[in-house]
Amino acid sequence: MSGQERKFDTKLLHFGTEVDEATGASSVPIYQASTFHHHDIFNPPVHDYSRSGNPTRQALEDYIAVLEGGVRGFAYSTGMSAISSTFMLLSAGDHIIVTEDVYGGTYRLLTTILSRMNIETTFVDMTDLDAVKAALKPNTKAVYMETPSNPTLKITDIGAVAEWAKEKGLLSIVDNTFMTPYYQRPLELGVDIVLHSATKFLGGHSDVLAGLAVAGSEELAKQLKYLQNGLGTVLGAQDSWLLMRGMKTLAARMAHSEISARKLADWLSSRDDIGAVYYPGLPEHPGREVQEKQSTGYGAVVSFDVGSGERAKQLLSRVKLPLVAVSLGAVESILSYPAMMSHASMPAEVRAERGITDGLLRFSVGLEDIDDLIADLEQALQNS
Ligand SMILES: *Cc1c(COP(=O)(O)O)cnc(C)c1O
Repeated sequence: MSGQERKFDTKLLHFGTEVDEATGASSVPIYQASTFHHHDIFNPPVHDYSRSGNPTRQALEDYIAVLEGGVRGFAYSTGMSAISSTFMLLSAGDHIIVTEDVYGGTYRLLTTILSRMNIETTFVDMTDLDAVKAALKPNTKAVYMETPSNPTLKITDIGAVAEWAKEKGLLSIVDNTFMTPYYQRPLELGVDIVLHSATKFLGGHSDVLAGLAVAGSEELAKQLKYLQNGLGTVLGAQDSWLLMRGMKTLAARMAHSEISARKLADWLSSRDDIGAVYYPGLPEHPGREVQEKQSTGYGAVVSFDVGSGERAKQLLSRVKLPLVAVSLGAVESILSYPAMMSHASMPAEVRAERGITDGLLRFSVGLEDIDDLIADLEQALQNS
């Protein structure tokens, strides 16, 4: 049976390099070495310096390429490192169209760093294909999607945007952090490059920072390889190993957390002291149909509005189970406060425009018993 015919859950455990060739060890060895001896100066080793290539990192890069169905994978020190390295495909004078409720760090990179390099961005509501088309300029080179978006979980039709991008000769990029390849594989929908903050669901244990990219073509793979080596934005061997350790349980973690997230979203929707509840699995979610077309699930992140900043802060100080923290996608539940955490770098007016109100909270559902998580939220809500 070839790797291609295997189901996703099987590929998570049997990705090709999971057993050490030399010793049969049950996990990839950690090659903690910066450089490699040339036994024969006329016949250099496969890896000669760990920035350019390291066997542990290579195993991870092959692993994510298999999972996303791409040509080649790349591992970076953080998600932002994967994103910024990929943006280096652009040149001064280029223009890029980006999801308006993009991750806060990506927003900061585009508006305060790449802008200095004369790379121009237009932020659009990507749920509206006409708005995307209207943003096209003569110097547009790329379209950058994030779906579901953060924190209001808006859904972009990946296939439709990718098709239009192809027609116009633009590069299409998806930040697939929220869904992971377990639920959504953008390359199969026609996208050119997939990116991840592997710090989140792929790592899954709040113990490693990492970023991943997968190229859908040999040509792009060559360019990304050149940039990764040239910029030096690589992931270290220890962290590469730790990330693979976490990724093996991705299916089990995602499936469990999603069942709980659905229950949490239903429970929140049934309460009259909660305003908007954002979860693509809710029947009234405007993006539900598109989500079901392009993904096999809804994910484990639920956002909801408790009405005011005062009430949000009270709830945050009263919950006992979730981590109150930035980040998401871990074995433990994480409750975030976008207005003061992930989106603090966004000007208040821009935040308001994008529905990131002072009462908005984002719950990343972990592996605790959902009844305990709901009981904990209930006591925190009752007292606030
Ligand atoms: C966290 C996150 C990032 C940034 O990743 P880091 O690993 O923190 O650098 C990018 N995109 C999304 C959607 C994220 O959630």
